[in-house]
Formats: sequence, structure tokens, C-alpha cells
Amino acid sequence: MPDSKHIKYILSEDEMPRVWYNIVADLPRPPDPVLHPGTMQPVGPADLAALFPMAIIQQEVSTEPYIEIPEPVRQVYLQWRPSPLFRARRLEQALDTPARIYYKYEGVSPAGSHKPNTAVAQVYYNKQEGVRKISTETGAGQWGSALAMAGAFFGVDIEVFMVKVSYHQKPYRRNLIEAFGATVHASPTNLTDAGRSILAKDPESPGSLGIAISEAVEVAAKSGGSVKYALGSVLNHVLLHQTVIGEEALLQFAQADDYPDVVIGCTGGGSNFAGLAFPFIGEARRKGLKTRFLATEPMACPSLTRGIYAYDFGDTVGMTPLVKMHTLGHDFVPAGIHAGGLRYHGMAPLISLLHDEGIIEAQAYHQNSVFEAAIQFTRTEGIIPAPESSHAIRAAINEALEAKAAGQERVILFNLSGHGHFDMGAYDSYFAGKLQDYAYPAEAVAEAQKRMPQVVL
Ligand SMILES: *Cc1c(COP(=O)(O)O)cnc(C)c1O
Repeated sequence: MPDSKHIKYILSEDEMPRVWYNIVADLPRPPDPVLHPGTMQPVGPADLAALFPMAIIQQEVSTEPYIEIPEPVRQVYLQWRPSPLFRARRLEQALDTPARIYYKYEGVSPAGSHKPNTAVAQVYYNKQEGVRKISTETGAGQWGSALAMAGAFFGVDIEVFMVKVSYHQKPYRRNLIEAFGATVHASPTNLTDAGRSILAKDPESPGSLGIAISEAVEVAAKSGGSVKYALGSVLNHVLLHQTVIGEEALLQFAQADDYPDVVIGCTGGGSNFAGLAFPFIGEARRKGLKTRFLATEPMACPSLTRGIYAYDFGDTVGMTPLVKMHTLGHDFVPAGIHAGGLRYHGMAPLISLLHDEGIIEAQAYHQNSVFEAAIQFTRTEGIIPAPESSHAIRAAINEALEAKAAGQERVILFNLSGHGHFDMGAYDSYFAGKLQDYAYPAEAVAEAQKRMPQVVL
């Protein structure tokens, strides 16, 4: 019998998981190899050593089912972890649904999102191997602020290439990055060949995550070893670090004497969705459960629902290794009118593989319906969600309404990946009626496919 009175499920510090879960151990087929951008042959650890510390490279290719969370990382996690699992009782009442809706809240971290779960781990491993400086990219600034915070804790310098439109339109997140002591540039910059090549073609370029990644990777690659690079999503080790979310949620559902029928997360590069869903996918595969897994994304950047499953670069200029993933093309530049975040052209290879195998479903939403769901959530649960997370809320509400129509007791779990306190500009546009719905055209994806690298394995 599910618990009938609690609003939140809290674990003690001692109950915080001691391991991350590695889904590679439970995949239906092995992951596709990562390819060198020059030779198009599978990369080895030595190829990646210019960018990442060895401990991270080992995690990237590990097939061990569980990897221990180092004690110094646990010590930092404990400031906001274990994070609460809430039962959304007022939202359920407002929807008049027989469904039970739960959400795991990652906005309790100091940076306001799930991103510190991997930022802290990545900076720790770099520090262990003597790295003094890390370069990275950021879009709206969530990742930049998380890495900057971790850099401040461990005494590692952080240099952030921030997508130019966000740099100018979202000064407060940029200021937060600065408050943590990191350096931040509006990308494309004149500091790198990658940035200069983009500016030569388009001096007014608004930037994109793909361009900012090119710049950050170049800084590390040309540093002769003194600077490493960190990525905030997409890669296996990043998804691994986020699984502390789902490991906690499994324990919290045991407390609630309940279990989800559907697990939902928004997907930009895939890390918060994976963090919550992968431990449940592992359970489902081991125990033969029929749990559903739903990844949600914007119509304006629909990599899982409209993208092509192919080898592509992780960045725009073509400096990163090639990975097999759902992609809109590495030269994708998001539409300026899109306010809902989740703007990366690709999707994590592990999520792409699980989607290809039919284990993960995907849905795309128009931004006005996403903000409408966000407001319904705010008025019932009190938390103003990040626009990104609101894609998961849209799906959770849809599932609850479907359950009502079918007269079903569906149990819904979603990841509330962050709060929206720094995103009020997007809410301002929504309240003013200025948000336009926009679907990325299928023809643009077909065109982009022609520019993707031709890989023959
Ligand atoms: C960065 C971010 C996302 C998207 O990234 P994923 O790697 O897909 O999780 C989602 N929600 C919030 C709050 C974010 O900061």
C-alpha cells in the first residue's frame, strides 16, 4: 500500500548512496566505438588524455556495474544531498487525477540544478591528477556556474566560454560564475582559432553550444597538458555521476512503499534524465519490470524525436571525437525565439542507444505548452521550475490526465532538474505573450545530414 500521508521522502546523510550506477553493464548491446576526428578510427585512452584526466577516461569506458563515489566528493554532495523526493499532492488534486505524481528535486544544490553532481566529481579527479585549470563551455550558464563552484571548492581555475546571446541576455548567471571566481568569455571569441573562424564568416554570430565547445576544447588541446577540458552532459562519465539521483530515488520509493510506472526527464544532452532513469532501467532489466521511460525535449531542438542516429561531432568546428548519437547536425544553431533551453544538437550516446533499442520513449513539446505546465506546477507546488525541467512537468501532467481519462492509478516520477530563479526573463516573455511556438523543420535536418562526417566502419 502506498504511503497515504507524506509530502516528502528524506534520506539521512548515512543513507546517501556510496556508488554510482553504470548502465553500460546492463545494455542490450555494447556501445558503439568513439572515433578519432582525423583518422575516423576508434580512439584509445591516449587520444583522450589531452582533454581528460585518466580517472575520467577509465570511467568513460568502464563496464563495471557500480563505481565508488570518492569520499571527498561525498563530503561536498552532503551539503544538498540526499535531495528530497516530493509527492505532488496539490498538483494531483488540481488535476483531479487518480495518478500519484512524484518529483525528485535537484534545485536544492547551491547552483540550483543537478549539474554540480558531476561538476564536483570532475574537478575532484582533475585535482587528484595535478590539473590546475579546466576550460569549458556553457549555454545559459547552469553548467558554467556548477563547474565554477566546484573549482572554487577544490582550488582549480575555471575558464568558461559562454554562448554570446546568453552572456548578454542572462547577466546574472554570468555574475554567479564570476562570483565563484571563474573567468567567463562571450563565445565566439577572438581568443581561439575556432572562434576566429566563426567570426570571420559571421561577425554577428550569436554563438551556440557547439561553437563554445570548439573553443573550450581548443584551449585544452593546445595547452600542452596544463589545461584540461570538462563537459557538462552527453558523455558516459557525466551520466554516471548523475545516477546518484536515481539511486536515492529507489530508496525513497521503498520508503513510500510505492514504485513508478513511468519515469520522466527533460533531455538537453541527457544527463539529468539518465541520472534519474538509469538506475530504474537497470532494475527493470534485472527484474523484468514494465516501467516506461520518457525523455522530453523542445520542438525547437528535437534531437531524439527528429534527429538522425549517426556518427557526428560533439562540437561545431569538428575538433571533438565522433560519437554515434541522435543529432540535428553539428552546425545546428538554435532559433533565437526559443526560450526553453535544451539547445544542444546531439543526444548522449547511451540514451540514443536505449532509444534505438525501444527502451526509452521520447516526446517533443511546443514552448507555450511547456510554460503553461510550469505555471500550473508553480501555483500548486510553489516552486518556479527551470524552463528545461518544465518539459518534464508537461509530460507528467499529460500522463496524469491520460490516467484520469483511463481511470488508472498510474505512478509518475519526474526529475525537477532545477529551479527557474535565473530564468525569469523567459517567464517575462511568456507572460507578455511573446513566446512563439516553433518546430525545427525536417528539411533542415535532412540538409544537415549531408554535412555530417561520412563514417564507414
Ligand atoms: C543543463 C540543464 C538541463 C539539460 O541538460 P541535461 O544534460 O539533458 O540534463 C536540464 N535542466 C536543467 C535545470 C539544466 O541546468
